[in-house]
Amino acid sequence: MSDRKGGCLCGAVRYVLKGEPRGVALCHCTHCQRLSGSLFSFNLVMRETDYEQSGATMIYVDSGDSGHPVFRHFCGRCGSPLVSSTALMPGKLVLKAGTLDSKDGLQPKIEVYTDHAATWLEPVAGAQRYPQNV
Ligand SMILES: [Zn+2]
Repeated sequence: MSDRKGGCLCGAVRYVLKGEPRGVALCHCTHCQRLSGSLFSFNLVMRETDYEQSGATMIYVDSGDSGHPVFRHFCGRCGSPLVSSTALMPGKLVLKAGTLDSKDGLQPKIEVYTDHAATWLEPVAGAQRYPQNV
């Protein structure tokens, strides 16, 4: 399979994924809702070493449920969220998959924080649902 590529809305930040995702998830948490301006994030869990970025991101230090900092990288020019990381997942990144050039072949395997999911949104076929985190 060829490497997946993606980037922010304005193109100042581009990336290549050198490996397959370790997880594919929808996240309905309130932080993903605010950050995306929408109702959920479509997330890929990637190994840090499988993510190669060109162009610089800015970082917003958020706080997760656990109280640990969550480092949210976004484009300082157009504001697109790209990746986040936390000490709870060493060596891993969570990529906002809406920024990929092609989403072909990617389907969520799990849905998390479904306690906050919009009530009119149908569950994703074949995906495990978790009220909070996994
Ligand atoms: Zn941008």
